[in-house]
Amino acid sequence: MKEEKQIQLAFTNKEDEEYVLKFKSIYEHKHLLIGAKKEILKDKFKDDIKLCRFCSKSETEVSFKQVTHVIPQLLKKAKPISNFECDECNAKFSKFETDFSNYYLLHRAMFGHTKKSGGIAKLKTKDGVEIQGVRKTKENLKQFNLSEEEAEQFLNSNHKLVRLLADEEDEGINVSDNGDIISIEVVRPTYKPLNVYRTFLKIALSMIPQDEYQHYKSMLNILNNDYEDMQPELFCFLQHILPKYNSYFSIPMVAHWNRSEDDEKQPQKVFALYMDNKILQIPIFSDNDFDRIFVKGEKYTIPTVPAILNPIVLINNDQDFEFHKELSSLKFQHIDFSGIDKVKGEKDQITITKDFNIRVETKNISIIESEEIEEFLEEQLWGFNLFPEFIEYNKVDLKIIFILKIPIDNTKYVHIKSGSFYQIENSNKKDIVKDLGFIADLLAASMEHTYKMFLQKFPQYDKIEVRSFSKIHFHSHIEDQLKEKGLLE
Ligand SMILES: [Zn+2]
Repeated sequence: MKEEKQIQLAFTNKEDEEYVLKFKSIYEHKHLLIGAKKEILKDKFKDDIKLCRFCSKSETEVSFKQVTHVIPQLLKKAKPISNFECDECNAKFSKFETDFSNYYLLHRAMFGHTKKSGGIAKLKTKDGVEIQGVRKTKENLKQFNLSEEEAEQFLNSNHKLVRLLADEEDEGINVSDNGDIISIEVVRPTYKPLNVYRTFLKIALSMIPQDEYQHYKSMLNILNNDYEDMQPELFCFLQHILPKYNSYFSIPMVAHWNRSEDDEKQPQKVFALYMDNKILQIPIFSDNDFDRIFVKGEKYTIPTVPAILNPIVLINNDQDFEFHKELSSLKFQHIDFSGIDKVKGEKDQITITKDFNIRVETKNISIIESEEIEEFLEEQLWGFNLFPEFIEYNKVDLKIIFILKIPIDNTKYVHIKSGSFYQIENSNKKDIVKDLGFIADLLAASMEHTYKMFLQKFPQYDKIEVRSFSKIHFHSHIEDQLKEKGLLE
């Protein structure tokens, strides 16, 4: 059982559309378990006598009194439950979950997860560093230096509040000079690696349909028994960390993918667990796979569910391209959770960088007015009006009315007025007035569009020379308008 085997990890990125197609040609999406939905996973029992999926004991030997959750309660009090987990197994799995919770404690504290016993997960290190999520309430926001309007916008956003209590001298906390980067390194509480994996394995085994379940005895064996010679490849655990400290998946969700093609070089099933900014994945080998791969030593590949096929896409059946840009060229991390010995003193770290990537989405550009005016105009003129609106926290709507007056000959000119509507993300009042060059860029784009519309509307004037203006011309005018609107002093 010990020979070396090559695992080929198939990574996905935005360019790699082929991989997505290939994955979809082999794997079929079976089931999405949603943490916020009260779903009951049910087995049918012979003579109505309950049988535990995990220890195979029946109601005559063990009790089934507890409400047994499929996704651990420590993941945002997830609601799905099952009817096939006995109280003994439930108690055993609860211990596994403690290891999972310890392994992900920094994550849980940073994302404000609630504890099983109530309250919010808190990380406390020996030298006194404390990290804990804070509930987003008006009262709690008072301690921050926010205007009433900003506080209101924050409450309605999906931004999180986390309290970090530390001295700069504390080891494990690094704050960069300008306050734009916080790097937190802490000692992870002691955990048993295999149990972290088992927490996920139990969810996966619970989601396998009853009529297929009998084919997964080898995986069940890993759930129930510690044994020497565990092959790390067998419980290949992959983690994908999305680029931002952002709860992309605010509800924990688990997706089940099943091999539909007879491509036996890949495991029968893949499960993906989505939590906040992480995607965790494990392959599930059928006993048949197990025999081929681990006994006979056949070559195989571990597939990864393309990040682009996440629950947001599965539920909405629609791709959010802005979001998926963030998922491109990310690599999976392979974590070895095969150890059965406790791991003490391991470091965990998170780095948060202020997001300077202002994103602009062009919502609409159109002509408002266009006419030929019988009047001599000496030279080309332009003008614009800016209408910024601060709609919610870190989001600005910017409407630009752009006017061009283009002389045609000695008797007439064309007057054209366009409206451009941009939505700017990751930007607030301060950012937008700080960087006039940014608005100048949008104005230049608006002017360009207005000129194109002029050509569309008046193709007979395509020989007319239209001067374009250097962006720097716009600056003083932008300044004047922002001052007029009270946005700039
Ligand atoms: Zn049991």
